[in-house]
Amino acid sequence: MNTKEILVTTEEQERQERYTELIRELPHRPQSYYVVTYGCQMNAHDSEKIAGMLDRMGMKSAAEREEADFVIFNTCCVRENAERRALGNVTWLKEVRKTKPDMIIAVCGCMIQEPGMAETILKQYRFVDLAFGTANLHKLPEMLFETLNSSTQQVCVEDKDVIAEGLPVRRLRQDAAYLTIMYGCNNFCSFCIVPYVRGRERSREMSSILHEAEELAKSGVKEIMLLGQNVNSYGKGLPGDPTFAALLKQLDEIGIPRIRFMTSHPKDLSDELIDVMSSGKHILPQFHLPVQSGNNEILEKMNRHYTREQYLDRVRKLREAIPGIGLSTDIIVSFPGETEAQFEDTMSLVREVRYDSAFTFIYSPRKGTKAAKMEGLIPDEVSRERIQRLIALQEELQQDTLKRFIGSEEEILVESLSKRSKSAVSGKGRHAVSITVNGSNEDIGQILKCRVTGLKNNTLTGERI
Ligand code: SF4
Repeated sequence: MNTKEILVTTEEQERQERYTELIRELPHRPQSYYVVTYGCQMNAHDSEKIAGMLDRMGMKSAAEREEADFVIFNTCCVRENAERRALGNVTWLKEVRKTKPDMIIAVCGCMIQEPGMAETILKQYRFVDLAFGTANLHKLPEMLFETLNSSTQQVCVEDKDVIAEGLPVRRLRQDAAYLTIMYGCNNFCSFCIVPYVRGRERSREMSSILHEAEELAKSGVKEIMLLGQNVNSYGKGLPGDPTFAALLKQLDEIGIPRIRFMTSHPKDLSDELIDVMSSGKHILPQFHLPVQSGNNEILEKMNRHYTREQYLDRVRKLREAIPGIGLSTDIIVSFPGETEAQFEDTMSLVREVRYDSAFTFIYSPRKGTKAAKMEGLIPDEVSRERIQRLIALQEELQQDTLKRFIGSEEEILVESLSKRSKSAVSGKGRHAVSITVNGSNEDIGQILKCRVTGLKNNTLTGERI
């Protein structure tokens, strides 16, 4: 995909700037906003951009959604219950609006990109004023202006795969930032709706990413999280086909203390990337490598393009090159037709890899995907029993794997006060494991060195050094 053709043009950006100014001047415009976010980090970052644009329109972020003049639901459609939860909350807001009739309600995000969904929502939820898809985020000023000047519901869902550079961002954290390096996905894993709603893979120009990282470094950011549905295929279609490893190497030279990334597809995890990680100064020794299943037949039905053996080979390479690396994964249980023996293959893979953490899910059919048409749905009680066994196994193993940190030196980026004690703070160590150490409010946003002394409920405890 030619990046020049998919970049939002300067003229379009200027047009949206003019709408931003027009809204600022409107006497009856909303004064405050609240963004409700569902789903992954990509969505969280989109919400930061929405907030950034609304700030520019002169609005203030409200403390509670009931108080806001403009409420935006940024939805996720990866699992059915996320969708149900979002719609439930939208409905609840209908009641709130009875006492606040001028409140404007928008629904955006992945759910709106599903074919026909925007129309369905607007029809069934007449109180929703505006619905727009992920590809239309940059048009928020124009869409909101139209909403404020019309009594009809507005909808904007375009299929076009675009990249909008330079959108303002209101970061949730000052010490850490998301940095999107690519959008969309070409993999079409048979259970996944993402390629249908987020479009084809398109990478940002390396120079734009490096420039953004330099600006973040200047602003004092201590950690960046590189985002993409499949960061390992970064660069395909860009002039010269730069690789993710090459990008990471250049980012490492900027000097931001901590660099993380997500998500990686095992089939695209190259030796070059492992080399760059092991020789990098700031790339954290952690890897989220979704396996989904430990059985080859299921992996094939999932269209994952790797075998159990190939996956385990990648894990071995990572561990050889980066001893002690923190590994995490995603696992789906009860994919259509999964037998007990096939599920046991997943259990045995988990025993073999010994992850530091695992995100486990019961398969949820998504309309429009290949897997949704497959036969062999697993009964709920079987799925529940399987996932409980898997969670119990992971917890047992995790208690053991995390013990390797006890006695070692770690470094945490403090995120918050500890929930259990006012004289302790928590944050993530370099290996993506939560660590609690003695500290206070002033430490939030700082990188602290500590010695790990214990382990409690999958959280490490330590003493500052
Ligand atoms: S790699 Fe597979 S699971 Fe990940 S976003 Fe793409 S299709 Fe979905």
